[in-house]
Amino acid sequence: MIKIADLGTDFVHCWYLEKDGRRVLVDTGYAEDWPHFIQQAKAFGLDAADFLFLTHAHDDHAGFLNPLLEQMPGLRVIASKKALPGLHRGQNGPGGGVPDADAAAVCRQMVREGRGRHLFPKIDEKFLSRFLWLEDIDLHDFLSGAEGLFLPGHTEDSIGFLWEDRLFCGDAAQNRLAYPMKTTIWIQDLKAYQQSWQTMIDAKPVRIYPGHGEPFGPEALEAGLGALPEIRLNPSIKA
Ligand SMILES: [Zn+2]
Repeated sequence: MIKIADLGTDFVHCWYLEKDGRRVLVDTGYAEDWPHFIQQAKAFGLDAADFLFLTHAHDDHAGFLNPLLEQMPGLRVIASKKALPGLHRGQNGPGGGVPDADAAAVCRQMVREGRGRHLFPKIDEKFLSRFLWLEDIDLHDFLSGAEGLFLPGHTEDSIGFLWEDRLFCGDAAQNRLAYPMKTTIWIQDLKAYQQSWQTMIDAKPVRIYPGHGEPFGPEALEAGLGALPEIRLNPSIKA
């Protein structure tokens, strides 16, 4: 049985997982969430972890990679090779749009809060030797019972972490408060996104843990899959 905790904020999760003495974090948060994370980790009694699974290189998921890697010298990062340009750039990649009016409202709020450019600290080059690229490894060689899924669509570097029957999907899906579809608020490539929902369904998780919102069951993806081709992405967000 995997022990699961959340060391993140109200907006973005930083999942902490533990099984057979192996400790895994999934994503960080915004750069400014670092003091909150330290506080949470301290209260939880966590001073080190073995792996950080980075679902994609966005400002709200990769924001405090540098201080985390500094703080935990034994920590290694598992990511897609396609995350590298974003990690070097320190900014979300271009392209895509919002899938619905509710998502547009959330994005406008981000713009008003000064997060519209989606900048984050560039990865410190000295840490790159501690990255394991999912394209190059078999995840179960490092963590028994674990599997990595390529889930492009939200971004091209999006990956998911399946451990036993729990799926940590980053922003390949999102559980919004007042919106029934589990679509994330920004989709770069709708066709790839749709394929990734099928990949998640085929992986047969019993529960899905998104980067944003409460965990949910896979039946919600099955119910929404047919509506994905109807989505028209709107690329222009004005505050
Ligand atoms: Zn996100």
